[in-house]
Amino acid sequence: MPHRPRPQLDFGERTKPLLDFVTKTIAREDGVLRDIRESTPSQGLPPISVGPDEGRLLHFLASACGAKKIVEVGTLAGYSACWLARALPEGGMLHTIEYDPKHAKVAKENIELAGLTPKVIVHTGAGMDVLPRLSASGPFDLAFIDADKTGYEDYVLWAANNVRSGGFVVCDNAYLFGNLHRDDLPPDHDDAPKVAPMRAALKLLADETVFSSCAMIPTGEGMAVAVRR
Ligand code: SAH
Ligand code: MG
Repeated sequence: MPHRPRPQLDFGERTKPLLDFVTKTIAREDGVLRDIRESTPSQGLPPISVGPDEGRLLHFLASACGAKKIVEVGTLAGYSACWLARALPEGGMLHTIEYDPKHAKVAKENIELAGLTPKVIVHTGAGMDVLPRLSASGPFDLAFIDADKTGYEDYVLWAANNVRSGGFVVCDNAYLFGNLHRDDLPPDHDDAPKVAPMRAALKLLADETVFSSCAMIPTGEGMAVAVRR
């Protein structure tokens, strides 16, 4: 199953073999992770997980901030959760939140297959219902936001208050499928209600009184990352 096309960055055909090479060498998705990613559609879930390169990036970011406690909003089949959890030391914990009980069930099975059950708790529920309850388990070293785009402002606000100083807040799909900058989306366009909350989320990440540094990592989907001040 090919991954979702990423039209936002036009690498051109010439560079595709180059990127494939990098995925094979740097991203090094192993058999367990590949099986999880490739089996997602056959389990009736949409093929919208991060790709191997972004999984590796999440692993890198978790390693870079020495993450012991991570929170993720939007589990799907647990693919990104497995990358994040693999970066955790012994005794580390990932809390991942998934709204759809079917997705949560598949994720738990995949996390078990990957041998990561001791390091991951899958919470079934809506992000903004579960996150307030998780505050007691914080502060967190890293928050990864990858659920409903209309919720991003709320999620980033929560993360700003629950990620420790020096910890990272990371948002996937920050280019909003190429529509982040568009003021001319028809009101009935799928992404129209997502533009304002995504822009508000990015504005908060770029607020230097709250985050000491913010960058857009130019993955195909745009991975926004900020360091909590
Ligand atoms: N992070 C995953 C992909 C997540 S896809 C990966 O890369 O492997 C987005 C997921 O967010 C979907 O499974 C969807 O059911 C879930 N979701 C949608 N709205 C949500 C909400 N309000 N709270 C929590 N999860 C939500
Ligand atoms: Mg995503």
